[in-house]
Amino acid sequence: MPARTGQQYIESLKRLQPCVYLGGRRVADVTAEPLFQEPMQAIAEQYDMQLEPAYRDVMTFCSSTTGEPVSSSFIVPRTWQQLVQKRQHCKLRADHNFGFLGRGPDFMNCFVTGWSLAKQHFARGKPQYGENAVRYYEFVRENDRFLTHMLVSPQIDRSRTSAQQEDPFLHLGKVGETSEGMIVRGAKMLGTMAPLTEEVAVIPYGGVAPGDDAYAVTFAIPVDAPGLKFICRETVAPLPRSRFDHPLSSRFEEMDCIAVFEDVLVPWERVLVDGSPGSGAIINPIFAAVGSMTELQIAARMLSQMEFFCGLATKLADCIGITGFLHIQEKLGEMLSYLEIARAVFYGTEATAQPGADGVWLSGGLGARAFHLHTPQIYARFVEIVQSLAGGGFFYAPSEADLISPEVRPYIDKFVRGRPGISAEERVALFKLAWDVTGESFAQRMQQYVRFYSGDPVRNMAGFYVQYDKAPLHEIVERALGRRVGQPLPISPERPGARPHYRPSPGTMAGAYPASPQQGQNVAPTVARPPDSVRSNS
Ligand SMILES: Cc1cc2nc3c(=O)[nH]c(=O)nc-3n(C[C@H](O)[C@H](O)[C@H](O)COP(=O)(O)OP(=O)(O)OC[C@H]3O[C@@H](n4cnc5c(N)ncnc54)[C@H](O)[C@@H]3O)c2cc1C
Repeated sequence: MPARTGQQYIESLKRLQPCVYLGGRRVADVTAEPLFQEPMQAIAEQYDMQLEPAYRDVMTFCSSTTGEPVSSSFIVPRTWQQLVQKRQHCKLRADHNFGFLGRGPDFMNCFVTGWSLAKQHFARGKPQYGENAVRYYEFVRENDRFLTHMLVSPQIDRSRTSAQQEDPFLHLGKVGETSEGMIVRGAKMLGTMAPLTEEVAVIPYGGVAPGDDAYAVTFAIPVDAPGLKFICRETVAPLPRSRFDHPLSSRFEEMDCIAVFEDVLVPWERVLVDGSPGSGAIINPIFAAVGSMTELQIAARMLSQMEFFCGLATKLADCIGITGFLHIQEKLGEMLSYLEIARAVFYGTEATAQPGADGVWLSGGLGARAFHLHTPQIYARFVEIVQSLAGGGFFYAPSEADLISPEVRPYIDKFVRGRPGISAEERVALFKLAWDVTGESFAQRMQQYVRFYSGDPVRNMAGFYVQYDKAPLHEIVERALGRRVGQPLPISPERPGARPHYRPSPGTMAGAYPASPQQGQNVAPTVARPPDSVRSNS
């Protein structure tokens, strides 16, 4: 099936029967669950956009296997133009929801595209695992499936590795295998949008610790696989929720779930890493390939969100007549300057893009990644500025019900309006939008999402340092120390976009795991542990 419509997506969801718990009850049909209606429609709109004449040429490209139009988020860019199309696709999707849907279908489409590019890594386990990675990417592309992913083990006790937890299968790991496939048991911490997706992709993130090979499993299965259960968090957008009072949270809640795998069978054709000895060493370097494909989606989403926040802040300030004050101008200038840096990075890395050794065009340099590391602070600052512009204005914004009450409305029109020319309805709508994205539970989740969705920001930043090729910088210092006298000054390259060679850190990303088992732990995964030679290198 080529690129789908929204209706086809919803019909597919209806055919699935995932085990989803919400508020203490089992959801019988996710497509009929009131809480999921608006987010499901938002995703359906994105599927419909693929086939709309205005967007079709950006949103789809010709499948190499069927010749049919498929989502251009699956493009493996072999030309600069294809990179541009992929960027346009991701930006269009992000603009649809002002960057508030972090995990629309394009994110995982890019992710599994990365899996297919990492096929040689997966093939290190068994040649068929490399083929599975490519076949799975093609399956998702040709069937236009909507995926969630589950990377991280539940926190439980972060001072211990997975094997060292009190029960060896608290964290998801391989418990055994049959002729049909691998059997997995345990839990994964978070899958955003899981109830509204059709497939779940699993791969450990953040570095597999020595001794944890049994937990280094990578696979993808349908969300209704027997034994798989999703438990939703409490909603951040309780019903009823008026569109006027809650313009974005009423539409774009991305439900997060913990996933419990009770001896789930993963068919061999869906296995990419099987948890056997040496599996950790296979997984640890893979995120370079996968990350390069999700980079565009991540950057596009953030840019759309920054554009939205800048528009909101400047409009909000104007509506209560504070734009003439110096410190307000300074704050708005700060936001706009961050926005322009984001744009320069977003389009600049594209302008300096180059093909890698495998002929795949990647954004130039590490600018996008570097900027991404700063987005938690920038986002938090945007929220803080909007709140400081608004003052107490959030708290005399009556509800939609007040606006339609003939008794209350005259007072609202008189006292709740903005500067001359700004009606009460306009002021209230803007302040409600601002509170929705900075004060509501929905807003708090979003801020936490931006902080953590690509991993622990502390270890990510440290990892950037660890992996960075510092030699050219050290050469500069050598010159300053007078040790390069007589050597010509390097002339800056015409195409400065080459990516420094990626150097995965030994063992884990960054940060430490306990070197030896702790007292009272239970180290007993039922699968074989790797030989010491493999463990010490993983
Ligand atoms: C809203 C939201 C949505 C998400 N959606 C998804 C999703 O769809 N799929 C998915 O797979 N994941 C998802 N995540 C999870 C995300 O991947 C993790 O939150 C992230 O990887 C950080 O891991 P953690 O939350 O377990 O934090 P932890 O790793 O437990 O970190 C907690 C604190 O302890 C510190 N810490 C912990 N261990 C170490 C160590 N070894 N060394 C140094 N410091 C340490 C950290 O610095 C941090 O301050 C989501 C997260 C959020 C907030």
